[in-house]
Amino acid sequence: MNKADYKGIWIFAEQENGVLSPTPLELLAKAIDLKAKLGGTDVITAVLLGKDVAGISETLFAQGAEQVIVLENDALAVYKHRVYANALVKLVEKHKSSIFLFAASPIGRELAPRVMARLGTGLTADAIDLDVDEDGTFVQTTPNFGGNILSHIAIPEKRPQMCTVHPKVFEPIEPIEGAKGTVIREEIEIIADDDFVILGNEEKVFKSKPIGKANVVVAGGFGVKNEEELGMLNTLAELIGGQVGCSRPLRETGMLGHECQIGQSGATINPELIINVAISGSVQYMAGMDKSKCIMSINRDANAPIFSASHFGAVADYRKLVPAIIEEIQNRKA
Ligand SMILES: Cc1cc2nc3c(=O)[nH]c(=O)nc-3n(C[C@H](O)[C@H](O)[C@H](O)COP(=O)(O)OP(=O)(O)OC[C@H]3O[C@@H](n4cnc5c(N)ncnc54)[C@H](O)[C@@H]3O)c2cc1C
Repeated sequence: MNKADYKGIWIFAEQENGVLSPTPLELLAKAIDLKAKLGGTDVITAVLLGKDVAGISETLFAQGAEQVIVLENDALAVYKHRVYANALVKLVEKHKSSIFLFAASPIGRELAPRVMARLGTGLTADAIDLDVDEDGTFVQTTPNFGGNILSHIAIPEKRPQMCTVHPKVFEPIEPIEGAKGTVIREEIEIIADDDFVILGNEEKVFKSKPIGKANVVVAGGFGVKNEEELGMLNTLAELIGGQVGCSRPLRETGMLGHECQIGQSGATINPELIINVAISGSVQYMAGMDKSKCIMSINRDANAPIFSASHFGAVADYRKLVPAIIEEIQNRKA
């Protein structure tokens, strides 16, 4: 492999039923930053696979793509890992990208390692930051050993340098109206995978709305011991137009579903306001909420690490404080 032959920053433009996922837009914003740090010559390319998806190119250009590779085919209409992986491997072999970024979504997490293995290159899983060091090396940061250390990973010899990136760690740019770019319509041969037949699709039914989109969150931790105490958080959340989220131990009790869990193995959120109730503030939890605009925390332990990440804190038993807050809000609303 001659590394010099590999150029450009690629983003996998993940879409389902013609609807673009949000994370590729976050990756495009980061690609703009990486391009500048790498000297400004790498073309930012979004790779779009599917059927009747070319229209998505407009959005990708408005969000920072300079080029979109569009590969449309009946066999790509529904995501199948082997068909998509084969197609991406062929595209990389043909165009030779230097960096290839995927969302750390269920699809990205399944697809990227397959493409990586076929290309014999390297992949960083679930990165929370991407940068270029003083030597011009592309560096990916990811939590390891249960989130207790951060690893800075480089892929010095192989290309493309591949990475899945945690959703919501980067902000998309403001859309550039009328932005134009180059569309490359690819015609490579697609191998349909008939060993693998999709019998049907069912929408997953969640107990509650996924926490990722909430603007105001009341999050409960392991100090919340029963449904009645959880009910208190629900009442507070309703009063302030928010939604209840949780740390992992509260989810593990079964009182709330995974769609409510915040953190490294749950959702990354950045709401306007989060109120943490009886949550100690582990690194894994904080990784999911420390970009929230306003962080308030209630904990009876004054030394709880959550306070170091909070804008406002109350050292108190929440079972006394939360009802008092609820009463005050109700009085003011009356
Ligand atoms: C690979 C890996 C991934 C992980 N992913 C996640 C993740 O995505 N999200 C996550 O949350 N965790 C995750 N964890 C678990 C994480 O390490 C912690 O165990 C967890 O975050 C602790 O949750 P907690 O703060 O609710 O509970 P605890 O650490 O037990 O804290 C409970 C807190 O409640 C306070 N408290 C108790 N009663 C009251 C009261 N009446 N009033 C006021 N305060 C009270 C206590 O003082 C304490 O600080 C992960 C761990 C690993 C190894």
